Amino acid sequence: MIIASSFSNKTVAVMGLARSGKAAVASLVLGGAKVLAWDDDPKRREEISGDGVEIRDLHNINCKDLDALVLSPGIPHSFPKPHPVAAKAKTSGVPIIGDIDIFAQNSKNTPIIGVTGTNGKSTTASLIGHLLSHSNISNEVAGNIGRPVLEISPDPGSDFIVLELSSYQLELSPSLGCSIAVLLNITPDHLDRHGGMEGYVRAKRRIFDELICDSKIIIGIDDEITRSIYQQLKYETDFSVIPISGYTIPKEGVGVKSGNLRSKLPGIPKCEINLKGLKTLIGGHNYQNAAAAVAIALSLEAEQPEIEFALQCFKGLPHRQELVRELFGVNFINDSKATNFDAAERALSSFKSIYWIAGGLSKDNRITGSFFKNLENVEHAFFIGSSENEFFDFFKNSTPCTKCSKLEVAVEKAVSAAFSEKKESPVVLLSPAAASFDQFESYEERGDQFKSIVGSLNLEKFSNRETTT
Ligand code: ADP
Repeated sequence: MIIASSFSNKTVAVMGLARSGKAAVASLVLGGAKVLAWDDDPKRREEISGDGVEIRDLHNINCKDLDALVLSPGIPHSFPKPHPVAAKAKTSGVPIIGDIDIFAQNSKNTPIIGVTGTNGKSTTASLIGHLLSHSNISNEVAGNIGRPVLEISPDPGSDFIVLELSSYQLELSPSLGCSIAVLLNITPDHLDRHGGMEGYVRAKRRIFDELICDSKIIIGIDDEITRSIYQQLKYETDFSVIPISGYTIPKEGVGVKSGNLRSKLPGIPKCEINLKGLKTLIGGHNYQNAAAAVAIALSLEAEQPEIEFALQCFKGLPHRQELVRELFGVNFINDSKATNFDAAERALSSFKSIYWIAGGLSKDNRITGSFFKNLENVEHAFFIGSSENEFFDFFKNSTPCTKCSKLEVAVEKAVSAAFSEKKESPVVLLSPAAASFDQFESYEERGDQFKSIVGSLNLEKFSNRETTT
């Protein structure tokens, strides 16, 4: 646990007591702060106790007594409407921060590799950790990936902390300074929380604030927004700016073309690695993630044989294009983490003969022209959840579609079509392009349910399928 000594003898309110909020309370108490903690959920409040912390309804306090408000990243402080406690703190001039900022204030000597982007953060953060470990560069991976950064030990003896950073977390981390800052991509997502695209881009660019001397910037050039940020940074900063791509080989950067990764980093021996055949890194988007991770490993003097070996044994993460099962030539892929159109589009471009299960809680993200191009790979779409009508109306003229309402119905219909239509290399793909909260607790629950339905499919019924693969 990190000791938040920078808050010694200060009064700090913590709003939101899920895992990172709980860790913030513990860390602040250890650091000698007086902590006022609150969560609207009584169950969460019951889990907090001990000296130095008081459960107090923050809606009713006088913010003038506070030195800081630690806000859970899920609670809005500006858009669509500030939470009343955040609004009060703002009016009183109380700094609003998150757990990442507590970490940044109290671990100044640990170099941080920060990873952000609309999609691919978790995959890239864990791949960076994996490549570095295989090159004997010790590290801890934490942050938005599900492990609160304050839970790591105060002197981990690690060479690096790899931090996955969401746009919400970046907005709450004014003290964060990365020694390597990675921005993978930016496409529309979470726009309601940032008051539009401009606010979202501003939040993502926060990762480049407070860089320390000798910092490196690793930036994707596969979308218009990050490409223009790259052009700007290249000319405006003195930091080393390394472009990465999943689709082309950038000059003085690291990229992948037709499955071959190549590096052209100034002063570093060139590296060439064939990524074709890596089962956990399929598609240009995953090549983008690999390029970012390899760029970091090479910059830290890792060598090609270790990097190559680590890429080959990377297990991937659950719910991200995860191969669940192969049944008589049909592959079942769980991509439940694809909660926006950009992520789902990547999955649709990674396979052929797709029986696509999508829908859920609609988000404010945009469907681009290239999405429709990838619909060519879709044999039939099966829609679920509160957005099924919206999805159906949107796609009915472009691809065969069926409304199924529930996940189990969609799987049943998709399986039946995949087995009867006898296409080459069919894939039943859950890649929802929508959030899960209308029918599930989380994207993890949605993916687990998909896996369990697929796991209990009756083999006998399909055993006479002639495979064409
Ligand atoms: P994040 O942590 O940013 O949500 P994940 O690594 O968890 O990213 O992946 C989320 C979804 O995005 C998955 O469906 C995955 O296949 C897809 N994805 C992964 N990397 C990328 C990328 N670089 N660009 C676009 N989509 C990606």
